Amino acid sequence: MAAIKFRGVDFIEFDTLLNDDERLVRDTARQFIEDNLVPIIEECNRAGRFPRELVKPMADLGFFGASLDGYGCAGMSNVEYGLVTQELERGDSGVRSFVSVQSALVMYPIYTFGSDQQKNTWLPALQKGEKLGCFGLTEPDFGSDPGGMRTRARKVGNEYVLNGEKMWITSGSIADVAVIWAKVENEGDGAGETIRGFLVETDRPGFKADDIHGKWSLRASVTSGLSLQDVRIPESNLLPGSNGLKSPLMCLNQARYGIAWGAIGAAMACYDCALQYSLLRKQFRDQPIASHQLVQEKLAWMINEITKAQLLVLQVGRLKDAGKAQHQHISMAKRNNVWMALECARQSRDILGANGVADDYPIMRHLMNLESVKTYEGTHDIHTLIIGASVTGIDAF
Ligand SMILES: Cc1cc2nc3c(=O)[nH]c(=O)nc-3n(C[C@H](O)[C@H](O)[C@H](O)COP(=O)(O)OP(=O)(O)OC[C@H]3O[C@@H](n4cnc5c(N)ncnc54)[C@H](O)[C@@H]3O)c2cc1C
Repeated sequence: MAAIKFRGVDFIEFDTLLNDDERLVRDTARQFIEDNLVPIIEECNRAGRFPRELVKPMADLGFFGASLDGYGCAGMSNVEYGLVTQELERGDSGVRSFVSVQSALVMYPIYTFGSDQQKNTWLPALQKGEKLGCFGLTEPDFGSDPGGMRTRARKVGNEYVLNGEKMWITSGSIADVAVIWAKVENEGDGAGETIRGFLVETDRPGFKADDIHGKWSLRASVTSGLSLQDVRIPESNLLPGSNGLKSPLMCLNQARYGIAWGAIGAAMACYDCALQYSLLRKQFRDQPIASHQLVQEKLAWMINEITKAQLLVLQVGRLKDAGKAQHQHISMAKRNNVWMALECARQSRDILGANGVADDYPIMRHLMNLESVKTYEGTHDIHTLIIGASVTGIDAF
C-alpha cells in the first residue's frame, strides 16, 4: 500500500479547462484529504466511526455551504464547490455525504426558504461546524416517492405539532437541527395538504434519533431513523418560503450536483490504485499484470469513462454557474457518474485480485459506499425516468 499514493487523473488535459481559482480550490481540498482523511479512513470504516474531528478543519477551509454567499460562507462557484466534493469523495463517500447534507440539504434550504431570523441564527453556526444538521425526507414506507409521506404538522395556536417517522437520515443522531419535511394538516384554503419544511431542534421533547447499525456501506457516515412524537415547535420554525414537494426536490438537486462530481473522486481513487497495482504486480513469466490485454481493457474502459464523466459534470457546472442548469441535466450527471464510478470500483477490485477485498486498499470501501450513492438522492432508475420524461414529455413513474 505504501507504494501506492494517489497521483491525480487527467487524460486529456482536463485541468486546462479549469481556471486558476478552480485548480487552487481543488488542490487545497486534495491536500487536506491526503493529510487528514486518508490516514484514518480505513480505521473509521472498520469501526463504523464518523471522523468528527475533521468537522472544524473542514469548516475552516470553507467546505460547508461553500457555494452560498454571506453568513461566513465561502461564496465558491458551482464548479469550485464540485471540485471540493470530488476530492472529499476521493477520500470517502461517507465524509462527502456529511458535507453534502450540511451544505446542500440543511444550509441551502435555510438560505433559500428561511426567514432572516432563521438565516442569522443557523447559517453562521452551520458554516463554522459549531452546529450540525440533517435532512429528513425519506420515511420507512416512502423513498423514491416522498410525496406519499405520512409525517404531519398540525398548527395549534402559535405552534406546530409534528408527528411521524423518518428513515435513512444522514447525520440524524449528531445533528443539532433537523430540516423535517411534513404535510401541514389544517392550514390554507382547504385545497389539500401541502408539504412544507420545518426546523426542528433535536433536543425538543418527543424527538428521537436512533442509528441504523449493520450498514456495509458509508460506514464512516452516521445514518439514523428519526421519530417525532408530538414535537412542538414555534411557528417561527416553519421555513416560510417552502411550498410543496418542489422545495425538497430543489434541495436534492443541489446535493445531486455535488454527488455527480463526488463520484468522479471515488472512481479516480479506484482507477489510480488499480493502475499502479497492475504495474507492480507480476504474474506469468515475471511480467506485470498491466501487460495483459484483458487488464489493459479494464484500465482503458475506466479512464475513458472517467474522462467523459469529467466533461459531463464540468459542462453541467458551467451551466449551473450561468443559472441555466436544469434538473434533468443534474440527473444525467448523477446517474452517469455514479454508475461509472461503481463500475470502476468493480473493475479495479477485480484487477487487485484477492488484495482487492482487503482494506489495505481503498477499493472495496469505495465499492460498498457507491452502492448507497447509487440508491440515495434519487436511485439510478429514478434518474433514468427523469431523463426519459425530459426527452419524451411523458411521465413514466
Ligand atoms: C446511506 C444512506 C443515506 C441516506 N441519507 C438520507 C438523508 O439524509 N435524508 C433522506 O431523506 N433520505 C436519505 N436516504 C434515503 C434515500 O434517499 C432513499 O433510500 C432513496 O430515495 C430510495 O428510496 P428507498 O430506499 O425507499 O427505495 P425504493 O423507493 O423502495 O426503491 C426500491 C427500488 O425500486 C425502484 N423503483 C421505485 N419506484 C420506481 C418506479 N416508479 N419505476 C421504476 N423503478 C422504481 C428504485 O429505483 C429501486 O431500485 C439515504 C439512504 C442511504 C442508503
